[in-house]
Amino acid sequence: MDFQVSEKTQVILEMIKEFIEKELLPVEVEFMDKEFHELVPLLEEKRQMVKKMELWAPNHPKEFGGMGLNLMEHGLVSESLGRSPLGHYIFGCQAPDAGNIEILHQFGSDEQKEKYLRPLVDGKIRSCFSMTEVELPGSNPVMMDTTAVKDGDDYLINGQKWYTSSADGSEFAIVMAVTNPDAGPYLQASMIIVPTDSPGFNLVRNIPVMGHAGEDYFSHAEILYQNCRVPQSNLLGPEGHGFVIAQERLGPGRIHHCMRWIGICNRAFDLMVARARDRIIAPGRKLASKQIIQSWIGECAADIQAARLMVLHAAWRIETVGKKEARKEISLIKFVVANVMQKVIDRALQVHGGLGMTDDTILAFYYRHERAARIYDGADEVHKISVAKRILKEYEGRQVQ
Ligand SMILES: Cc1cc2nc3c(=O)[nH]c(=O)nc-3n(C[C@H](O)[C@H](O)[C@H](O)COP(=O)(O)OP(=O)(O)OC[C@H]3O[C@@H](n4cnc5c(N)ncnc54)[C@H](O)[C@@H]3O)c2cc1C
Repeated sequence: MDFQVSEKTQVILEMIKEFIEKELLPVEVEFMDKEFHELVPLLEEKRQMVKKMELWAPNHPKEFGGMGLNLMEHGLVSESLGRSPLGHYIFGCQAPDAGNIEILHQFGSDEQKEKYLRPLVDGKIRSCFSMTEVELPGSNPVMMDTTAVKDGDDYLINGQKWYTSSADGSEFAIVMAVTNPDAGPYLQASMIIVPTDSPGFNLVRNIPVMGHAGEDYFSHAEILYQNCRVPQSNLLGPEGHGFVIAQERLGPGRIHHCMRWIGICNRAFDLMVARARDRIIAPGRKLASKQIIQSWIGECAADIQAARLMVLHAAWRIETVGKKEARKEISLIKFVVANVMQKVIDRALQVHGGLGMTDDTILAFYYRHERAARIYDGADEVHKISVAKRILKEYEGRQVQ
């Protein structure tokens, strides 16, 4: 396997690294202190700088204003951007818009592409993805209460969703709702584009998560759809194909997420090593002189390297054999990288002692916000079971000596 990174990608990565260090890391203090809307004008300036550098929307289609990088290239970009919680937002490739852009590009009608996809890639609007329900298990999403019933030329949508990330300030939601209740379980739901100013779209609250409800892009909303009316032309892809499309959204999205997490690991690791190197723990002795800390450094370095190679391998599998054939690798990286990230952040925080608990470093922010990685996009247990089932199937009838 070729581990060489192309010259073009190396140049892009260098430019991103420099931009993050010079332009984004200094903004983090304000980011921790202020509400997000207060920062929007400053962040908009940074976004314009990225556009001028021609590094905007690295993974998005060229014909809609993105750079059109492939999955491997964008994986490396995502790792670099993960160094700052603002990285993906400033470069126009943040979740959940990134996933919505992919499915609009693949399944949207020409009209939907002009109305929603183009301004989304351009960063003029934001969007959200509304699937998980309050009363039913997100781990088994075929259990869904939200319905979309035809009424004249419209759909009437009713249901209660939550964890619709970034709904606050979004122009539209892509909503999963049951349109075909008599079909098989995976063919009952459809994806429907719902503008957030539609009658019956009620944002109930931004849910407090780990002590902070957040707002704007950094928030997770509960939404009540009450006879929410949208035209039937807002159906995305064929009716009843919501889960088929959702599968399309997950593969590449997982590479982006996992590489972002590797970027977080790199940042936490750097902070950990620098703190161990500098902290005097006894007269003439640095924390780094303690074997237990050395052991953590060695372990974390190995864990990050292993996780990183797993993700790049999964990206390579997706590109060479396709998403369907790469399903095992896609599930494996989801729980492995989420757990490595949690371990590395925890170790880095521990090395910082009381300082680690404060918001004077980025570690406490990551500790609070990235715990969710083991839950969203499929909880650890669900992926482990899915991988195990696949492996057991491969072993059916196989002679082992
Ligand atoms: C920060 C954050 C952002 C999110 N953003 C979005 C979003 O933008 N849009 C959206 O629609 N949803 C979003 N979600 C929701 C997320 O997808 C769900 O929380 C997730 O699918 C789990 O569903 P649940 O919370 O209903 O947990 P449940 O399905 O009730 O599962 C609870 C726990 O049970 C265990 N479990 C579940 N199934 C099994 C099994 N088969 N075997 C063994 N154990 C099992 C797991 O430990 C799991 O954590 C987000 C969630 C978080 C935390």
